[in-house]
Amino acid sequence: MRANWQEFFGETSDVLKNAKHQQTVVRVLGLEIGGGDFITMAGPCSVETEQQILSTAHHVRQRGAQILRGGAFKPRSSPYAFQGHGLAGLKMLAQARSETGLAIVTEVMSEDDVSLVAEYADILQIGSRSMENFTLLEAAARSGKPILLKRGMMATVSDLLKSAQVVLDSGNPNVILCERGIRTFDATLRNTFDAAAIALLKQISHLPVIADPSHACGHRELVPALARIGVAAGADGIIIEVHPHPEKAWSDGEQSLNFAEFDQMMASLAPYIALRGASLNALALETVG
Ligand code: PEP
Ligand code: MN
Repeated sequence: MRANWQEFFGETSDVLKNAKHQQTVVRVLGLEIGGGDFITMAGPCSVETEQQILSTAHHVRQRGAQILRGGAFKPRSSPYAFQGHGLAGLKMLAQARSETGLAIVTEVMSEDDVSLVAEYADILQIGSRSMENFTLLEAAARSGKPILLKRGMMATVSDLLKSAQVVLDSGNPNVILCERGIRTFDATLRNTFDAAAIALLKQISHLPVIADPSHACGHRELVPALARIGVAAGADGIIIEVHPHPEKAWSDGEQSLNFAEFDQMMASLAPYIALRGASLNALALETVG
C-alpha cells in the first residue's frame, strides 16, 4: 500500500492492510465473505408478506444467491412511508432461512432493537442513514454478529473507515463494508455509484467490500451494469433488491429486479465472476512464487 494512504487513513489504522493482515474473512453459516468466493445477497427492500419473502428466497437461492436481504425495520426518507413489520418481519425472514438455508441480512436502526434483531439475523445491516450513529454501532458490534456497514450517502471513504474502526474498537472484527452510492451534484440518478471507492477500499483495507448497485442508481435497468462494474472493481460480493412484482413493491420498486431480470443479471455476471476468480488465482500464484 502507498505510504501516503497509511498517513491519510492514519486514524483508522486497524482497518488498513498490514504485513500480517491482508484480508478479513467473515464466516456466516458456512459461507466465507472476503474469502475468495463471490457472494450474492438478494431479496426485497422490505419484508412485506410471507408469500413475497418466501417466494423470493426460494427463487434467488436457486439462482446462486447465498444470503437473503429484506428490511423489517425500514429507514425511510418520508416519515409517512412504510416503516417495516418489525418483529413479524424478522420471523418471516427466519422462516425463509429455515426453508432455504440462506443466511439473513437485515437492518437494525435502533440501539434498543439490537438484541431482538440479533436473535433472528445472521448479519446486522447498519444503513446509510445510521453510519455515524456511534452508539448504535457500538451496540450492534457488541452483539457479536457480523456487521454490514453501508456508506453514508454524504460520507467520505475516510468517514466510512472511521465507523468501521468503531466496530473493531468495540471488539467485533467482522465488518463488511458496503458502497451504496453517494449524493453528488448530479440528480439524474438516485445516487452516484462510487466504483473508485470499491477499488480503493480493496487496496487499503483488509475488510470485505460489497457493492449495492440497487441503491446506487435507483433504476432497475442500470442495476446489471453496475453489478458488473462492482465485480470488475474487485468487490467481494453484491447486494441486490429483488421482488416478485416490483411494480407493487411497498418500497424501492423502481430499483428492484423481478425474477426474470434477476436471472438475466446473474447470467450476465457469471463470466465476470469467472474472470475475477482467474485473476485472484493468478495473484495467489504470484504471491507464492
Ligand atoms: C436498504 O438496504 O434497503 C437501505 C435502506 O439501504 P441504504 O441504507 O443504503 O439506503
Ligand atoms: Mn431499499
